[in-house]
Amino acid sequence: MALSGVEIFKLLPKTNCKKCGSPTCLAFAMKLAQRQASIDACPDVSEEAKKILGEASAPPIRPITFGAGEKAVKMGEETVLFRHDKKFVNPSAFAVEIKDTLSEDEIAKICQQVIDSEIDRVGQKLRIDAIMLSNVSGDAGKLEAAAKVIAAKAAVVPVIISTTNPQAAEAAVKLFADKRPILYGANTSNADAMAAIAKANKAVLGVAANGLDELSGLTEKIKGLGVADMVLDSGARKAKEIIAHNTLIRRAAIKKGDKTVGYPVINFMQRQDSLLEGLLASVGVAKYASIIVMSSIEKWKNLALFTLRQNIYTDPQVPMQVEQKIYHIGEPKPESPLFITTNFSLTYFIVSGEIENSKVASRLAVMDCEGLSVLTAWAAGKFTASKIAQFIQESGVEKDVANKELILPGYVAILSGALEEKLPGWKITVGPREANTIPAFLKTR
Ligand code: SF4
Repeated sequence: MALSGVEIFKLLPKTNCKKCGSPTCLAFAMKLAQRQASIDACPDVSEEAKKILGEASAPPIRPITFGAGEKAVKMGEETVLFRHDKKFVNPSAFAVEIKDTLSEDEIAKICQQVIDSEIDRVGQKLRIDAIMLSNVSGDAGKLEAAAKVIAAKAAVVPVIISTTNPQAAEAAVKLFADKRPILYGANTSNADAMAAIAKANKAVLGVAANGLDELSGLTEKIKGLGVADMVLDSGARKAKEIIAHNTLIRRAAIKKGDKTVGYPVINFMQRQDSLLEGLLASVGVAKYASIIVMSSIEKWKNLALFTLRQNIYTDPQVPMQVEQKIYHIGEPKPESPLFITTNFSLTYFIVSGEIENSKVASRLAVMDCEGLSVLTAWAAGKFTASKIAQFIQESGVEKDVANKELILPGYVAILSGALEEKLPGWKITVGPREANTIPAFLKTR
């Protein structure tokens, strides 16, 4: 359970020595209570207090990583119920199911689809994050054979092995033992054996329960068996149950400090109807799923879900920004066009993407407007003729361009006259209002 600032204060040395960077021990205690500081900043705190505070300040949802290398998936660490309270930390991971009844070629094909699913959106790599191999055949040999194909064809992709049969689990999981897989399928009848396999292979254990009461009893038992890292399946499959169970789990962990459910949640959304599957997955993204398992990969579905996930898991208090500078798109020559825009990430990536599509090498001057889009920055007085002129003059771009022409976003055409006055010797051209007409605009020049 989280401690209050006053409770934390009682555990501190109370010397007000300021070594932690706070003016008093009480101020530091308040920061700790709000999770804005680490106890390590106080060099004089006792080991006992450190232990108590360490436990109390641990995130209510246990941080767990599965997979290895740069595609490893981070889960948990969440501290709030609502995104506007602070932010959601680790985005839901999407996994696609591969059944062990499929042929080697079919498995290899899905592995390739997973690898090819990666896209770049506003500077972030988005992808189908994991593969879940299910033992639907019930045959240990088939599970192992399918696992070997995945290990060979998708070595970098994090893997979930789904089976309730400990013998089948052991053979398949050990193929991924150095890649921190998830072994899903520990239930009331096999928990001891599955826990032992997870421990031996350094796997995260997926706990499969029938309802929330059974779930918390199972996690307590498994923790007692020495497994610290678990993902939770309450048995919810319908949208209504998923929303209810995921919310109750998150609420119990965060508000009540219930450690038995303080783990990431895995939801199974497989449906024959892709649209329904996509809708269910979107419910999981919005409502606390750490892993969302789907039956298929389709580009339209990926795009919709990736965008939703990205929107929900960005920090609402921090606008996404790119660095202020003159960006080169292609290999611009002195006579190449020079555009200007603001440093809101989405604006930058859309404008630069459209210039790239046009295949006309250009310069793009990106001005720091605190992450605001063009019109908002203009309305806020951050994208004005004087400020643009100052930025262009200080950027030094003048020495690189032959014709001193600056292309303004069409939405701020109103600035062109004033800008011509502030930038003597420059020609100001009003460019398109919408970025998607940039290629046509460049073609007409
Ligand atoms: Fe208090 Fe420790 Fe900070 Fe010193 S370093 S002011 S003892 S909390």
